[in-house]
Parts: sequence; structure tokens; C-alpha cells
Amino acid sequence: MISVAEALERLFALVAPLEPETVPLRVAAGRVLAEDATALRDQPPFPASAMDGYAVRGDAVAPGARFTVIGEAPAGRRFAGRVGSGEAVRIFTGAPMPEGTDRVVIQEDVTREGDMATVTGTPGPGPHVRPAGADFRAGDRVAAPRRLSAADLALLAAMNLPEVRVTRRPSVAILSTGDELVMPGEAPGDDQIVASNVFALAALLEAEGAEARILPIARDTESSLRAGLQLAQGADLILTVGGASVGDHDLVAPVAAALGMDTAFYKVAMRPGKPLMAGRLGASAMIGLPGNPVSAIVCGTVFVAPVIRKMLGLGAAPAPRLTAPLARDIAANGPREHYMRARLGPEGLEPFASQDSALLSLMAEADALLIRPPSDGPRAAGETVEYLPLPRP
Ligand code: AMP
Ligand code: MG
Repeated sequence: MISVAEALERLFALVAPLEPETVPLRVAAGRVLAEDATALRDQPPFPASAMDGYAVRGDAVAPGARFTVIGEAPAGRRFAGRVGSGEAVRIFTGAPMPEGTDRVVIQEDVTREGDMATVTGTPGPGPHVRPAGADFRAGDRVAAPRRLSAADLALLAAMNLPEVRVTRRPSVAILSTGDELVMPGEAPGDDQIVASNVFALAALLEAEGAEARILPIARDTESSLRAGLQLAQGADLILTVGGASVGDHDLVAPVAAALGMDTAFYKVAMRPGKPLMAGRLGASAMIGLPGNPVSAIVCGTVFVAPVIRKMLGLGAAPAPRLTAPLARDIAANGPREHYMRARLGPEGLEPFASQDSALLSLMAEADALLIRPPSDGPRAAGETVEYLPLPRP
């Protein structure tokens, strides 16, 4: 058996970052910046007023000082002339500072009568001016790789970049296998159940930035599996679900091998989970996941999501772990790394009493996978443990 970390390394070896493409800023949220983005201008491009008030020479500001108002500068239209001593320009937030001024006296500190402005009260230190380039300068960069946030989009827009270079979305084809499965909404036969985990996998991987396609269910026959894998051709990643052990009806590996895949099995020391199957099939990477719904979702989180992130150019790194205190005592762990379904509450992480890996109803209640290292001893409430967050929209 190999460790989770080693299995992940072997999966990383199957994929490389995809090529970049250019997309409009408007659809770039959540995409991964593939090349540094370079500002085309300074922001602000000129010294700008940070307040509504009166632009003057700073050294003339004192309680009771009087200025003749010689013009106005709203945002978007600078005052054309030069401002001398004893003069002021009525100015508004975002307007360029007029020549000869370096200070804004806020309007709350000024009494205006006709074209005279008098400083009343004690003006604060000021200067209420945003220097040119205070935010960024032309040539400043947003460094790749980086998953673009809402604020990043505003920054790129301010840099006057209408388009960005991002990594192409990995395409993922997801193939359920099993005679017992029907699609949701169909009428299951007496001995059948509904294919479920593929919907979790598609959602999980799309949230990472992949484009997922759920293929029609393949039956446990060579011809049906072959047809399914053929439909998956062209995807960057093919995920099969179920049929990947070594039982009589587990045909994914032999059929994939017949199609030219150099199949590797990794018996991974983890719970829940079964052997993972992986290799390259034509131009695609392929990962065979266990069919058990909870195992498939855990393996999707622990193995497939990091593989997608590598394809997006975010590097080869395991799912980031967080820490929290335990909300209750837990018994010693066995020899496999255990991903316990848990809820994160005010007292900390509370693993569910039942860890039955067939129960989707419990999986749906979980918002964290508490990670027990192999052969970890018993742990008491209050001790710090690691977990993987399960994102909720
Ligand atoms: P297998 O890996 O094919 O032996 O399947 C293990 C268990 O997972 C069996 O109980 C299957 O019925 C179940 N299973 C397989 N594929 C799916 C699926 N797509 N959705 C829900 N359950 C599945
Ligand atoms: Mg099966």
C-alpha cells in the first residue's frame, strides 16, 4: 500500500498545465491567470483630490485664512489655470489637483460667501490628496499564476486591461459504470439504484474551474465500457466511477488496457477509498475512482481536485489543510489515513458517530473531512487536528 501523498504524486505525474487562452475580463472570475498582467497606466494618473472641498497652497492654510475662489474642478474636468497664493479652486473627489495647489481643505471646514472661502474651525492635517501612482504604476504586474478574485478583476480593469490570459479550463468526462445504475428521474428496476456520485464529482470539479461532462452510464460489459471510453476521448481527464477493483464485474482496467492504456493500480492506505486506477489513455489522463458514493467524493476532494489545480497551472500541491480543535474525544485510528465526515461548530470539529461510507445523507451534512493520520493515537476534546473544508455554496 502507498500513502495518500505518494498516490497524489503519481497522479500529478500524469498531467501538465494546459495552454493559456485570452478571455474578456467579464468572464475571468475564478479563472487562473496564466501570464503576468501588466498595468498600462498609473492609478491615479494625476494627483487627485480625496475629498470635496477647496484646493489651495498648503502653507496658507490656517484658522481664519481667506481665499478667492477662481474656478471649479469636478471629477473628470481639471481646472485649466494656475492657482496663486490667496486663491482656491472648488474641487470634488477624484478631480485632478490644479497647478499650484497641494492641499484640499474639506468643505466642512470652510464657510463660503460669494467668491470668498474662509477657513472656519481648525482644519485637520490634510492634505487629502491622492498622489499620482499611489495605487499602482504603469508596468506594475499582477503575477501569474493566480486564481482571479472579484477584487483582482477590478484591479485589472483599473489597469485598463479588457482581456486577460488565463489557463484553458480542463475538460473532464465522467463515466459511471454498473448494471445496477440508472440516471436520476429514470425508473429504476427492482435491483437498481440511481447514479449519484457523478453529480458530486462534476460540481466539485467545476467549482475548481474544470468543464465537466457526465456521460451515459456504461454497463458492466466490455462493449458498453468501450463505447463509454470512446465517448470520453478528447477530454483532458477521463474519470471512471466504479468497476475499478479486481472483481469479476470490474472491467474498467481490462477494457482500458485493450484500448492502449498502461494501467497502474495504487492501493492507497486511506479510508474511505479503494484501489485507485490511473494512467494515460490517448491524449487523456484517466483516473478510475471507487463507485461507493462517499469514497468517490472523498477521492474527488483528495486526489482529483488537486490534479485539476495542477492542470490549471496552480502547481502540484495537496488539498490545503486547515486546523481546528476537536469538539469531542476520538478513539485511536487504524493503519490507514482516515477522512472522517465532520461538522465544524463553535466548539470545533465534531466527527459524526457513524462513519459508514455508503451514507450520502451523512456526507451531505458534513462540512469538513477530519484527517486522522495512520495509526494516530486517541485524541481528546480541545486538541488541534487537521481537516479539509468541504465547500458549501
Ligand atoms: P463498484 O466500485 O463498481 O464495485 O461499486 C461500489 C459500490 O458503489 C456499489 O454499491 C455500486 O452500486 C456503487 N456505485 C457505483 N457507481 C455508482 C454511482 N455512479 N453512483 C452511486 N453509486 C455507485
Ligand atoms: Mg460496479
